[in-house]
Amino acid sequence: MYRYLIILFSLLLGGEGESATLSFSAPLAIGRAVLLHVQDVPAGARLVGSLNGKPVPFSAEHRALLALDMEAKPGPVLLRVEVKPPQGKSELLTHTFEVVARSYQEEQLTLPKGKVELAPAAVSRAKEETAAIVATYQRRGGRVGYGEGFQLPVTGRYSGVFGSRRVLNGTPRRPHSGVDIAAPQGAPVVATAPGEVALVGQDYFFTGNTLVLDHGDGVISLYAHLERIMVESGRWVEAGTVIGTVGMTGRATGPHLHWGMMVRQDRVDPLLLPGLPQEGASP
Ligand SMILES: [Zn+2]
Repeated sequence: MYRYLIILFSLLLGGEGESATLSFSAPLAIGRAVLLHVQDVPAGARLVGSLNGKPVPFSAEHRALLALDMEAKPGPVLLRVEVKPPQGKSELLTHTFEVVARSYQEEQLTLPKGKVELAPAAVSRAKEETAAIVATYQRRGGRVGYGEGFQLPVTGRYSGVFGSRRVLNGTPRRPHSGVDIAAPQGAPVVATAPGEVALVGQDYFFTGNTLVLDHGDGVISLYAHLERIMVESGRWVEAGTVIGTVGMTGRATGPHLHWGMMVRQDRVDPLLLPGLPQEGASP
């Protein structure tokens, strides 16, 4: 299906034989990342891209990950790609995605008071920890590891869906910006794609033992509530490398992996990433 879509989109968008063409792994949508491949790029040409005015970086293989945040507004989204050959005229490729509204489900959660109403010391500690995680989302550049798509870090039941409006003990909270995968305590967690270990967080208040991987160009994956972390900061890991084990550290009611994905700070549904089987994924 994935390959079929690429072929279909290439046919729809293809111009004359000598021009470069845009192909997408899937149509862009709210809370979704898609892989763009610019094909038939003249040798030595440079690509300059933007999505609704925001810069889009390309890998050396002329690939880019395009994304819309989970709370992006519906409407037309314009992609511009300028192909700049070393000599001669540059070529402008454009494509408009008609993005429709997306609705999310509401999730009622009940937790013991002590885990919800934080003591002042816990508040300041949690703030620092959140700042450390958020700082990794600002990372840009680095070695590219997103070009071949992504894989599931662990298999299991989806116990918390992406984007759900969480109501905690009756109070609305921020939407759930990742997916929760319930799995046995100690089950291995693997890297979703090649990347550099950007953060090893020990026993964070909310996210417990926390790992962040940087896949280059602002593409970031987050793994929370781990029992153990098996890689150190700064290390490059390949896709499928065991990086830790499933646990319930931090604020968790049972063993599960919270998996988050950010593309230049846009929060996207991990289960809709290119390369993953789309069957059974959240809507
Ligand atoms: Zn979660």
